[in-house]
Amino acid sequence: MHRSWTGSRNGGSTSSNRSAGTPADQATVRRSNLSLVLRHVSEYGPRSRSVVAMETGLNKTTVTSLVGELQARGLLKEIGPQHAGAVGRPGLALALDGSGVGALGLEVNVDYIAAFATDLGGRVLIDRRVSFDAMGCDSDRSLTELARVIGEAMAELDLLEVRVAGITVAVPGLVDTATGTVDVAPNLGWYGVPVAEWLVRAGVPPNVPISVDNDANLAALAEFTGGVASGTSDLVYLTGEVGIGGGVISGGRLLSGADGFAGEVGHVMVDPSGERCGCGRIGCWETKVGLAALVRMATPDHAYGMHDGVMRDPEERLAEIELRWAAGDPRVDLAIGEVGRWLGRGSATLVNLFNPRVIVIGGYFAKLADRLIPVAQAELKRLGVEGSVARCDFVASDLGFGAASRGAAGIVTERVLSNPTAIDVRLAAPAPEKERE
Ligand SMILES: [Zn+2]
Repeated sequence: MHRSWTGSRNGGSTSSNRSAGTPADQATVRRSNLSLVLRHVSEYGPRSRSVVAMETGLNKTTVTSLVGELQARGLLKEIGPQHAGAVGRPGLALALDGSGVGALGLEVNVDYIAAFATDLGGRVLIDRRVSFDAMGCDSDRSLTELARVIGEAMAELDLLEVRVAGITVAVPGLVDTATGTVDVAPNLGWYGVPVAEWLVRAGVPPNVPISVDNDANLAALAEFTGGVASGTSDLVYLTGEVGIGGGVISGGRLLSGADGFAGEVGHVMVDPSGERCGCGRIGCWETKVGLAALVRMATPDHAYGMHDGVMRDPEERLAEIELRWAAGDPRVDLAIGEVGRWLGRGSATLVNLFNPRVIVIGGYFAKLADRLIPVAQAELKRLGVEGSVARCDFVASDLGFGAASRGAAGIVTERVLSNPTAIDVRLAAPAPEKERE
């Protein structure tokens, strides 16, 4: 059973049991009631029609009709008798089916493409990372490789008889989510790249919806729905990579902002007399806590490619830092401590703004969490508003570098839960009964 984020920006369901006038209104009511029933069983587990009716406030006849349609779409199944209480006949329990419906998430990052697929019940079907030097080639080459990874994944899901309900691609940059175009992804060197359109031209079937989103926002959703802080409705996610990504979940919703650009914490100015950032500004948070900053401080003899904001094989660099730290290199220890302090300073601003319960740190931050967290927590305590920081803890993500692709698949699942009619009725399935209100 998976937790869903209620009322997400992608149009969370609105339950409605009111009668409606025009056919368009009726279709809308029907859709939101289908979503209500599907989401209810998804969140609370198997239960009978009468229990669903009681708990959702829909009438029993309506629930029977809605369940019939959800069965026809391959989203619910009957699993056996279940007693609703001490008295009365047992009803057949309904469970999420969805084993034939898949969600595919991908992440394009500086040095890899990740693919993650689940069925609607959350069973992991694909979880892999392909090494790929996205910085070393143009966007067309990267998209060709992305299309290849997608094609391979879809062929595998096809063999498993899983229909792909949608594809979401995570990208480290600013994304126009309405058109699936990456406005700018500086670390990939992408400017105005129409990813969704490109993938359709590359052969992704037109009946499979494609969306594109910011990687840190998707990772924040993954943390909220299935990570260490799962279910914490106010959390901030920070990922340390070459740059810094951030996502804010507030009241169970991802903050996206007017253009979907919210959470660009890496370019919040923290030091007016600091260094120039890859974005061209001075003293961005990223220049203090990005992996490039750590490498520069910890291993100045190896600080390469810093001047243009570009850095190759970040994981290799991190591995070397971890090795030197384990060997007791004092300079490395000091450098990690300095990153921890700046991590706490920047986070104090976020805590004052958003009052989160948890700050989940991912990417390279997670790998150095034992050293970073005590320092960051102390700095947070020193600088944040007392009441908020007293109830806010740093925790290390355990989702690894796959968090964004996991969140990307989660978005697809969420869309199906929000609109079950996006999944076609299966051939030879019983027609849904006429709905009565
Ligand atoms: Zn910047």
